[in-house]
Amino acid sequence: MSLEVEQTIAAARVLIPLRDRGEEGSLGARNAVGPVLQPTLAETSTPGRRTDQVPHPPADALDGIPAAHRRAAPPALPELNEPGVVRHFVALSKLNYSVDGGFYPLGSCTMKHNPKVNEWAARLPGFAGLHPLAPDALAQGTLELMWELQGMLAEISGMDAVTLQPAAGAHGELTGILVIRAYHEARGDHDRTEVIVPDSSHGTNPATASMAGYRTVTIPSAPDGGVDLDALKAALSPRTAAVMLTNPSTLGLFERRIVELLDAVHAAGALAYMDGANMNAILGRFQPGAAGFDVMHYNLHKTFSTPHGGGGPGAGPVAVRAHLAPYLPTPLVVREADGRFRLERDGERPGSIGRVRAYQGNAGVLVRAYTYIRAHGGSGLRTVSDDAVLAANYLRARVEGAYEVPYPGPCKHEFVATARLLKEATGVRTLDVAKRLIDHGFHPPTIYFPLIVEECLLIEPTETETLEDLDAFADALIEVAREAREHPELLHEAPVTAPVRRLDEATAARHPELRWRGMTGAETPCPQ
Ligand SMILES: *Cc1c(COP(=O)(O)O)cnc(C)c1O
Repeated sequence: MSLEVEQTIAAARVLIPLRDRGEEGSLGARNAVGPVLQPTLAETSTPGRRTDQVPHPPADALDGIPAAHRRAAPPALPELNEPGVVRHFVALSKLNYSVDGGFYPLGSCTMKHNPKVNEWAARLPGFAGLHPLAPDALAQGTLELMWELQGMLAEISGMDAVTLQPAAGAHGELTGILVIRAYHEARGDHDRTEVIVPDSSHGTNPATASMAGYRTVTIPSAPDGGVDLDALKAALSPRTAAVMLTNPSTLGLFERRIVELLDAVHAAGALAYMDGANMNAILGRFQPGAAGFDVMHYNLHKTFSTPHGGGGPGAGPVAVRAHLAPYLPTPLVVREADGRFRLERDGERPGSIGRVRAYQGNAGVLVRAYTYIRAHGGSGLRTVSDDAVLAANYLRARVEGAYEVPYPGPCKHEFVATARLLKEATGVRTLDVAKRLIDHGFHPPTIYFPLIVEECLLIEPTETETLEDLDAFADALIEVAREAREHPELLHEAPVTAPVRRLDEATAARHPELRWRGMTGAETPCPQ
């Protein structure tokens, strides 16, 4: 019996008990349980098989290599024809859920569809083929794009200067906090050793503060989800270097007392950092720089195109107000009086904290962001945010009967729901709800974050989903809540239709199996 057949049968066995219970109607039609895990290329290799209609390499390819430098025997590579190789990798790619394959409601991540024209732009040979050390004279097009992007990001944020170097949001945070540290040091203000973060903050905020040598002071959130102003005031002192705020917060709520908060921060001599991961909610509506923030980062891969989630390249540009511009990483892109573009020279801006990344960051991500911003234009970006906020509020209104929504009232681009009451009534946890959504054909939302909400689901639909798609997802979430009440055991077993069942995620992260081992047949290829 072939491996595929065995695997299909194994998968079917999992489904059959459900059918016997008359539950199969609740499984989304989008699920395909097929021969999910496949043999490797080495295992499907057949000696002598190849694609030889087009000779490759040409028959005389070895003639120019002296015999002494040739291999004695060909390398032990798998032997397949081209369709076999293509089908192998296409089948593997289909095992992954992707934003091109379905809705991806991960709160705090802004997983939106990325216009394909941006992929075309990023692959234009003039951008994609440029050597990172090409002299400025040969890189005018790319430098112009970067210079314009610096300006666009400054305008959108209401800030004065931008570096494009950092490779991700977390890297942008580190860059921003190092800039703040350089600012205090340049003023001889050496006693500031603390960074304040709210308890709803993303884990990268306190991690950044520690990496930059600061002590993290965590303050609680107020009952309405906003920053507790009194707690902030009590925590501020001459030791405070910076306060890191996320606005809208990771609860999807806009900080209403922002002016008061920032006044208190500045009155203490500290600087205000804004985590800009949630810019998708406020483009064209709120400029952090104009509101009084001193520095912020963008996540271009969240707000301005670039598919992410698989660990691919990102970009976390940092925008600052004028008093921090001297410390930004070097080199920035500058424009000469004659209109030509160049990178700053070594030592040109002596206060700079130096480089934070090789070359100019992830240039392809910058091209996509530029294309996205130009295609939408100013009013278009505002529409992006308005639509994202509308979609989130629509979803929130649809699911709040089935799940508890701890912060009622309008949200921004994402909202928090909780399975707390469901757990009390049925024993079903948020993790079970998330796993069951997979059986209904959806990627689960972010769960157990932010940490301050028990049994938390953080849901972000983005502006790119249609009403039909939002309804389908809401229907699935509501259906899962119904299943939890009627068949809680079904949710403990979920997912039953995915290529793999419940993984031990801690083991998978700490002891990943990265080496291929032949399957003996005795092992199950489908870890339970
Ligand atoms: C995603 C995110 C970050 C980190 O950004 P990366 O690009 O993943 O490094 C920081 N803060 C918040 C609120 C985020 O959502």
